[in-house]
Amino acid sequence: MNTIKRVRVAIIGSGPAGLTAAIYTARAQLSTVVITGNQVGGQIATTHDVDNFPGFPEGVTGPDLTERMRAQAERFGAEFDYDLVTEVDFTTGSPFRVKTYGSEYLADAVIVTIGASPRKLGVPGEDDFIGRGVSWCATCDGWFFRGKDILVVGGGDSALQEAIFLTKFADKVTVVHRREELRASVALQARAFNNPKIAFQYNTVIDAIHGADQRVNGVTLRDTVTGATTERPTNGVFIFVGYDPNSNLFAGQLNMGAQGYVIVDGQMATNVPGVFAGGEIHDDVFRQAITAAGQGCAAALMTVNWIGEREGQGLLQTLTDDALTVETPAVVETAVPVAMPAVIETVGAVAAQS
Ligand code: NAP
Repeated sequence: MNTIKRVRVAIIGSGPAGLTAAIYTARAQLSTVVITGNQVGGQIATTHDVDNFPGFPEGVTGPDLTERMRAQAERFGAEFDYDLVTEVDFTTGSPFRVKTYGSEYLADAVIVTIGASPRKLGVPGEDDFIGRGVSWCATCDGWFFRGKDILVVGGGDSALQEAIFLTKFADKVTVVHRREELRASVALQARAFNNPKIAFQYNTVIDAIHGADQRVNGVTLRDTVTGATTERPTNGVFIFVGYDPNSNLFAGQLNMGAQGYVIVDGQMATNVPGVFAGGEIHDDVFRQAITAAGQGCAAALMTVNWIGEREGQGLLQTLTDDALTVETPAVVETAVPVAMPAVIETVGAVAAQS
């Protein structure tokens, strides 16, 4: 027997988009579960200094900002499942099945805010030395490089922001960038240029990462103009070369662009009625914590609207413990086929909100 938990809204992902969406749907009295993924807060939780999130004139750390958003959503009744989604079924319409390693949900609406993951270089040695000198998280791993000489790869905001942060630990940080011009904002460039511990190596890529005794001890660099290669000793390589959307889970169900970003309309709706998306899973342009939060808010507002319309049409099943605790296949009062024996529970304090 499998236990299915019945919710109004399942939010997949817990970055600024997901947590903001949860604040709005839970506050609208819709039972809400946030399936957090590996890391509550997503990418922002691994960023040490967040200088540009409104409301924090002195700045805020990513973990602190995350915890504040999480606690705010919880205050309104959102529940958190610290698990990973393994499978979704959007093919039969609402309510939708969402499976995690430990649970299964049947949700009237789903908000996809699963974000993006840091991109790899794809060079020899990169995988061999993960956690042994190769890192994508300065906040997590910077401390291990006290007094060391390290490289940061990339020329965008992430690379410079994290390079600046890493100078708290490392003696020397060299930013290795494949072009002659940085992509990062002028403000971050100015801060990096003024930091005596940061050096820049332009027109350069890493061809291979080497090590001994299970630790990184050097890289092969290639000049992108001349093609010449050189060996460069280093203690660590921090990689910030962009992100890819975590959209594999939705392949064949949600429409995506060429890069795998989920396509939404102006109202954050995907091609599946009742499934909305916000944040970096669909946004390859702005990619800020504050824009993700705004998109999560918009997706939540449209979700509340959509559920309200279904309720008006008499399509919404009342969530009460009595009505939903069943122990038989496909007995939820909807047309959704439930393939296996199911016990359906309500999640959240709001049992009969509609
Ligand atoms: P990004 O802006 O896409 O920059 C990625 C950098 O990596 C680029 O410089 C790119 O080079 C380089 N790169 C890409 N693939 C590479 C490869 N295979 N080998 C070597 N270098 C490679 O990514 P991001 O810096 O992570 O920023 C993502 C978004 O978040 C941006 O919109 C950014 O503004 C935002 N962000 C904002 C802040 C802030 O406001 N404080 C902080 C962090 C991030 P090219 O330049 O040659 O393409």
